[in-house]
Amino acid sequence: MNHFKTLLISSALLVGLPGATLAGDSASTAKILIEKAQESTLGWDIVESLTTEVGPRLAGSDAEARARDWAVKKLNALGFANVHVEPFEMEGWQRGSISVMVGDPYPQRLVATALGRSIGTPVGGITAPVVRFETLQDLRDAKIGSLKGKIAFVDSKMTRTQRGSGYGQAVQKRSAGASIAAERGALALLIRSAGTDYQRNGHTGGLRYDDEQPRIPAAALSNNDADQLGRLLVLKADVPLSFSMSSKRIGTVTSGNVIADIVGSEYPDEIVLLGAHLDSWDEGTGAIDDGTGVAIVTAAATLVARHAKPKRTIRVVLFGAEEPGLIGAKAYVAKHKDDLDKIIMVSESDFGSGRIWRMDTGIAKEDEAKADDIQRVLAPLGVLPGARTASGGSDVSALSAAGTPAITMGQNGWKYFDLHHTPNDTLDKVDPDDLAQNIAVYAAFALMVANTEGGFHPPAEPASEE
Ligand SMILES: [Zn+2]
Repeated sequence: MNHFKTLLISSALLVGLPGATLAGDSASTAKILIEKAQESTLGWDIVESLTTEVGPRLAGSDAEARARDWAVKKLNALGFANVHVEPFEMEGWQRGSISVMVGDPYPQRLVATALGRSIGTPVGGITAPVVRFETLQDLRDAKIGSLKGKIAFVDSKMTRTQRGSGYGQAVQKRSAGASIAAERGALALLIRSAGTDYQRNGHTGGLRYDDEQPRIPAAALSNNDADQLGRLLVLKADVPLSFSMSSKRIGTVTSGNVIADIVGSEYPDEIVLLGAHLDSWDEGTGAIDDGTGVAIVTAAATLVARHAKPKRTIRVVLFGAEEPGLIGAKAYVAKHKDDLDKIIMVSESDFGSGRIWRMDTGIAKEDEAKADDIQRVLAPLGVLPGARTASGGSDVSALSAAGTPAITMGQNGWKYFDLHHTPNDTLDKVDPDDLAQNIAVYAAFALMVANTEGGFHPPAEPASEE
């Protein structure tokens, strides 16, 4: 018996399993993909290449433009079709330098980092007493005008969880705190970092100014230094702080989304969209946020093309300018608003490379059994069935909010917020085996969705994740 015949017989056996359907056939191929993905180093090679050759890639910067060039070259080399950039404009920002000094009688420097998009202090800085608030709500409860001539300090701690669910609360002081403090008369805002580590790093991240309020500068203290400032304020309630920061907004700059397809063999117009974001904050090299996401979706789609024949198109979108507020995602929705109904699934990898342990679905009720079939194939990788509500992840939540079906692959994020938006977000934090598990899940998932009979439909109500 020659090899060719063996292959024919074994694939006939696979197709001929009791109860086997079209889905059963793609499930068998998905199992082969899972093995191939776990043997492959492609994902590691991609994240190593991006974080080494481009490094940090702040939204709208020259570095982010180099990342787009890198992506176009990489996606073409991997055999993707229709590789192109869809540019858009945004407001640029530069970090500048920062200094936070405690005054007499306890003079010392505190470690802090500018919040993304913050304005700087006036030249010469701000010297003022600090008013500490235990929570953002306490700051909200302060009277209008009560912080005149003061620096507000919001000191709430972030809770560590496997799902990262402490972030939703912690991030509010970062995004909304500056305008709430400004409304009460504050000169500047300091926050305890939205992060869980004690590595003495500030965690950066975007803020949002309310147009109704004056803009004030805002920065994040490391957890260690927030503790320290708390103790100093107990010793001397009106201890002065000197805060100087040269961050600035730099007018209109260009960013862009990079798009690439594995064209489907039967329904090329129907799209399974896998997302990640190409930009990063500028302090680390953006390995876990979101270099690993770029690697996971790119490697997964590549492996599908190498080892299977997807019936629908698998589209990889590497979004630009996620960090300053999903700017690339919104540009994608605006540009493709007339054919969003061609997208039968969205899913984004943007939570590091911890192992995927649950699958949440945001799809029509009548499609849930098909998703359950997919989850069962992924179960040997440790993937549990999750909630019946999902946005698909950061950027693609803009798509699911506009009415596309979504599945979120929930990763183990226990350690994610130790590193997120810090100088410590570097390649050495990526575990190659965990990364390969993610790629195995996404490759098998993408193929099975692409080949599922009848496809997937959006839920009755677009859902948002917790
Ligand atoms: Zn991210």
